[in-house]
Amino acid sequence: MGPNGSALVNFCQSLNEAVLKIVAIVIWYFPFGIVFLVAGKILEMSDPSDMGKKLGFYAITVVMGLILHGLFILPSMYFFITKKSPIVYIRGILQALLISLATSSSSATLPITFKCLLENNHIDRRIIRFVLPVGATINMDGTALYEAVAAIFIAQVNNYELDFGQIITISITATAASIGAAGIPQAGLVTMVIVLTSVGLPTDDITLIIAVDWALDRFRTMVNVMGDALATGIMAHICRKDFMQEGDGVPLICETKPVHIQQLMNCQQNNGSFQPLPAGGKPELISPDVARLMQLEEGVRPLPPERKIPPVPPRHLKHKDKEHCSIDMNGLETNV
Ligand code: ASP
Repeated sequence: MGPNGSALVNFCQSLNEAVLKIVAIVIWYFPFGIVFLVAGKILEMSDPSDMGKKLGFYAITVVMGLILHGLFILPSMYFFITKKSPIVYIRGILQALLISLATSSSSATLPITFKCLLENNHIDRRIIRFVLPVGATINMDGTALYEAVAAIFIAQVNNYELDFGQIITISITATAASIGAAGIPQAGLVTMVIVLTSVGLPTDDITLIIAVDWALDRFRTMVNVMGDALATGIMAHICRKDFMQEGDGVPLICETKPVHIQQLMNCQQNNGSFQPLPAGGKPELISPDVARLMQLEEGVRPLPPERKIPPVPPRHLKHKDKEHCSIDMNGLETNV
């Protein structure tokens, strides 16, 4: 729209800034709100020390469950499917796990997880690009585990007897709620409402677990990130043959190693088939980013000899007699 659109752009920018300011105020108010919510709950309790003990056991249960899942179940699945050492694989993603512990957000950790898998674990970029964002959005093992334990804890605090059917319902809704949870801090706490309402538990009691949630959130986010990373490794193992056939011998655009410029040119000149370097050819390495740019822009393939294209006269000059006029704008045609 050119200059005419500037009013709209200004409006969107102002709206964005206004929202940021409102969110900043709300974030400052947030700790006070939580203190009063928790204080209200403590005042309602007949024996707060007893509740503190129960909350401690709840936190220990969640952490034990996460340790069991993250250190035994997920690595064993990786080992049985890929027959490779999960310890080596997990060592490669340690940086991502630490970032997830620090940020409590699997979405914020996503770029680091991507980098760890690419550089340390040498997973194909195409597999990471697909599996990791999908995993970070829907695969939250830690959150599902925590939501199920939290719902059972709230039921026990209220002396509510859960039958087998209700426990199954909690498992299913906790899994569904974890899929719906965003990869941001304490998103699981919000989707807990779905789990509690599914078995008729009071949603107000979520405030009981807020006090320990900031800590548990860090551990469950770590398990979420680990689940995504191991799933990517498993997918890379399962798809390895397909990807080998597809990219057999072709220096991929996703190479992380420096590419020889001659290799790239040979590859393009031979319609994608790889040619070895000429013997004695002096290696002139270019970084993967430069190679990618070259491929994306004009390509390193020599351009075909220029053909003279006769200038096309504007349509409105050609069809004076017609009852419509056409405006040619950079090859786009708008009929009026
Ligand atoms: N913080 C978690 C994550 O980003 C989501 C949650 O369980 O609250 O993966």
